[in-house]
Amino acid sequence: MSEIFDEILEYVQTLEIIDTHEHLPAFENLREKDTDVLKEYLTHYLSCDLISAGLHPEEYEKVINHRIPLMERWKKVEPYWEASQHTGYARALELSVRELYGIERICGETIEELNSKFLKSLNPGHFNKVLKQKSKIKVSMLHDIPKVNELIVFDSNLACDQEFFRNVYPVDRLIFPQSGDDILHFERESGIRIHNFTDYLTAAEKIIDNALAHDAVALKSALAYARPLEYERATHFEAEQEFNEIFKSKHMGSYLPQLFMPGKKFQDYMMHFVLGIAGTRNLTIQFHTGIQEGTGNYLPHSDPSLLTNLFLEYPDVDFDIFHMGYPYQDVVSVLAKNFPNVYIDMCWAHIISPTASINALLNWIDCVPVNKISAFGGDYLFVDGVYGHQLMARENVSKALAQKVEDGVMDIARANRISEMLFFENPVRIFKLQGKIE
Ligand SMILES: [Zn+2]
Repeated sequence: MSEIFDEILEYVQTLEIIDTHEHLPAFENLREKDTDVLKEYLTHYLSCDLISAGLHPEEYEKVINHRIPLMERWKKVEPYWEASQHTGYARALELSVRELYGIERICGETIEELNSKFLKSLNPGHFNKVLKQKSKIKVSMLHDIPKVNELIVFDSNLACDQEFFRNVYPVDRLIFPQSGDDILHFERESGIRIHNFTDYLTAAEKIIDNALAHDAVALKSALAYARPLEYERATHFEAEQEFNEIFKSKHMGSYLPQLFMPGKKFQDYMMHFVLGIAGTRNLTIQFHTGIQEGTGNYLPHSDPSLLTNLFLEYPDVDFDIFHMGYPYQDVVSVLAKNFPNVYIDMCWAHIISPTASINALLNWIDCVPVNKISAFGGDYLFVDGVYGHQLMARENVSKALAQKVEDGVMDIARANRISEMLFFENPVRIFKLQGKIE
């Protein structure tokens, strides 16, 4: 077994890969410089494990306050770090610091040395080192959000460094606008003054076309953070009535935030409207499904089977199901098996649970055509995490394929061939990247 694994991994390590999903700064010079290793590494993911392990959220705020001496903060976090050290999130960071900084483990003895090496990495060239030289990433598909909460921040600035990234357009604000500022933003972006629902729809279409003209390669929705993934049919009239509610806050002084919560029928209508546009432009839409990042949310909202009516009604849209739907990865198997327009995306998955990722791959190779799976998306807000994650992805894929060779399902040449598909050819085809990544 281990010889077969070694041989496959050796080949997989040579592969250039397409990274289906990142949240990195769009240009390296936009990296936060006023930081340190704990502040950056605990932006997300492991921070949630630490809080789950018992670190109080107020203490967490102190741990990421780089004005407080580093060792004082390490002492606060150490027991929770130790309890979390075997999770995928912690393992990815360990792999990263080993390769990037030559430090064997993150612990009390090494944290100061790690921090001083990390601070040097804020100089230009680190993106190239991590993403290109170490991780062999051809391009990463970028969902550029400056803050952790995917719902709150909407960035219409489509420019990104084409050496590393391609843009994905987040459609959520069009479906779920939250304030008068959003409406003003849409007016500016579309050049259309929005007086009524018809204006709003015209503006929405123009904004999406604008994004495509500015090289967005796909659409993305992360609304499973805020509502169930079930988008029912609503009539134009129902949606219009709820849209009109938005204007009720217009009379308030401009010094007050004009916040609102659009009704469900409006949201449902808008999702169908956006998918209608996606169908006529032959687009792929990435859907967040499964586990929500952060502390506490409604997991059942993210069940990918709730999207079934959309798969049926929009056969011309390709649906890319994020995070392998974890923990609904068996549900995702059936969806990808039954629908020609549904694809599995393992972004974030290998660090959520390496074991679940390997087992899911073993199962999918049994029941889903291998041209429907993309094996890697880093899904990190900070660049160092990407290295550890892609290494785990390469190892997990190699383990699953080695098992299939061991079971007599395929030979090593076929296993290697499948690894090329999972890491490169499939995402190129699923996201129509041909001609856009050279
Ligand atoms: Zn993400």
